[in-house]
Amino acid sequence: MMKKPKKMIIANWKMNVTSEKDAESLFLSIKNVVSKLEYTTMVCCPPHMYVNQVARYVDHRNYRVGGQDAYPEESGSRTGETSVLMMKNAGAEYVILGHSERRHLETKSDVARKVTAVLEHDMVPIICIGEEQRDKNWKKTLTQQLRDVFNRVPKKNPENIIIAYEPVWAISGDKKNPATAVEYMEALEVIKKELQKMFKTAKAVDDMRFLYGGSLDDKNIEDFLKNASVDGFLVGRVSHDPRVLMTMFRLIEDHEHRELFGQLDD
Ligand code: PEP
Repeated sequence: MMKKPKKMIIANWKMNVTSEKDAESLFLSIKNVVSKLEYTTMVCCPPHMYVNQVARYVDHRNYRVGGQDAYPEESGSRTGETSVLMMKNAGAEYVILGHSERRHLETKSDVARKVTAVLEHDMVPIICIGEEQRDKNWKKTLTQQLRDVFNRVPKKNPENIIIAYEPVWAISGDKKNPATAVEYMEALEVIKKELQKMFKTAKAVDDMRFLYGGSLDDKNIEDFLKNASVDGFLVGRVSHDPRVLMTMFRLIEDHEHRELFGQLDD
């Protein structure tokens, strides 16, 4: 039986951890549980200044560390920036790019340059795309966001590319408004079709990983597990809530076990 690839949880801590002590205790509170998971891996994305500290604890393949952004040059006169090389040297293997909370700070070509630089440094870009609204142009918005990146990025190593579909209307609002599995699947179809056109092979698209992000939690994850083809999830709000994360891990583990072996033994 072919082993299924593990589901990924990308934990985007955003700016919600404000001291070394908190970064350490948050990571340590989930580390042991994560190292025992069979079907799930986690990438922790702390604020830049805690990446190195969290990375020092990485001693199991089930968890990794990522950055929330990175500047696409190695070094130089760039006040306030953190370079891709610094991220890598600090221990990050992944970098979130094009997040909707950053898109107003950067141009489309900035995002593409960052993706290129991350790939050149043998790290994995987690490229966020998503429409603002499900209006009549939402599909065009998605395809344009993909073109803005991949018309400028060398089309190699698709296995190192992660696309996170994060509809802006679903992210971190005051009122939770997650997409449904059906809405995610509609978007995935658009995304894969466009990527296939650009990469010119279905194999390249099969090699990439596709995630969902937007108000995901322990209450709505099952809809995605049961009804969507998804390689994992990007979470914000619940990324620093160990209790909710643990429940999500358990739901993923049970679901994946069932997929492989049928009903769970009681
Ligand atoms: C995000 O900001 O990428 C995100 C998914 O946030 P939340 O889970 O809080 O909607």
